[in-house]
Amino acid sequence: MEEQQLAAARERLLQLRKEVLLEVNESLAAAKELGQDGVADIGDMSANTYHRDVLLNLNEVQRQKIRDIDAALERVGLGKYGICLRCEEQIEPRRMQVRPFSRYCIDCKTEIEKFGE
Ligand SMILES: [Zn+2]
Repeated sequence: MEEQQLAAARERLLQLRKEVLLEVNESLAAAKELGQDGVADIGDMSANTYHRDVLLNLNEVQRQKIRDIDAALERVGLGKYGICLRCEEQIEPRRMQVRPFSRYCIDCKTEIEKFGE
């Protein structure tokens, strides 16, 4: 990948990271409002629990995304960005555009999903 593309990818990853962190903060604030301290009104309990679970799950997804983004940023630094971790071939540029923190090419990703890493 060329220097210019790498710089653009890095920029995009940092921006994505910022956006996810912002989302995380918003979810945390929302979870707090839903009464995480356990003093929720009994009548509202089930609805609150449901919403809180959704928020917590969302956070887990977001946490994973941050990890993926950080790993991608590290690979930019190592000059290995856009290279599949499994077969070490270049990942399809279109895939990197849609999901700039992709670790695997589509073929490997498909196999990993079928057979595990
Ligand atoms: Zn691969």
